[in-house]
Amino acid sequence: MMQTKRILLLIFSVMFLLLGTSASYAQSATFEDFFCEEISDSLFARMMGKSYKQDTTIPRSELRVVHVLHYDFEGNIKQGEIICNNAICEDLAEIFKTLYEKKYPIEKIRPVDDYDADDEKSMTDNNTSCFNWRQIAGTKKLSAHSQGLAIDINPLMNPMVKTRNGIQSVAPKAGKAFANRKKAFKGKIERNDLCYKLFKSHGFTWGGDWRSLKDYQHFEKTAQP
Ligand SMILES: [Zn+2]
Repeated sequence: MMQTKRILLLIFSVMFLLLGTSASYAQSATFEDFFCEEISDSLFARMMGKSYKQDTTIPRSELRVVHVLHYDFEGNIKQGEIICNNAICEDLAEIFKTLYEKKYPIEKIRPVDDYDADDEKSMTDNNTSCFNWRQIAGTKKLSAHSQGLAIDINPLMNPMVKTRNGIQSVAPKAGKAFANRKKAFKGKIERNDLCYKLFKSHGFTWGGDWRSLKDYQHFEKTAQP
């Protein structure tokens, strides 16, 4: 009988030790997981013909990938990758580190190449992304995303809303339910919330402050005209 008790005690001690070790690993890992890196050959191969097109003029050497951790909507810790301009990679690493520390929910952070660089598909999947060589929807003008200087956060809950001649258009289309900003919902970006304040303090402008249209998902750091 004593023998059984001892064995049980031993098993519990080992389990306790193992649990303790994995918990402390998760904690220590968090502070090393926010960093900028040059675009590797394998990542560039994923981008070619998708976010990085034939007529893309920004050199690969000016782009970076920021590795981050984030909490998803269920509270799980996930890894994310953001492809951006070298000029804002440190800003993004710092912003996303704080968002993580404050457990700000972000559903997914994948390069848009995982969606064949199709913005509508990526937004509909509520994917947060930055670099994509593309025009502003409905225009011939290049988007700030083309320079990797703009990022879209939780785009399904923070759609682009435009009203022309009394007709409202919402992008992504699936985000129509979130066009009403008076409602409260998870992942909503508002003036003076944590996400807004962090981007503003790093010199970004918010699409939700624009007058001609509202792009609630969008933060960019570009020279103002
Ligand atoms: Zn955007």
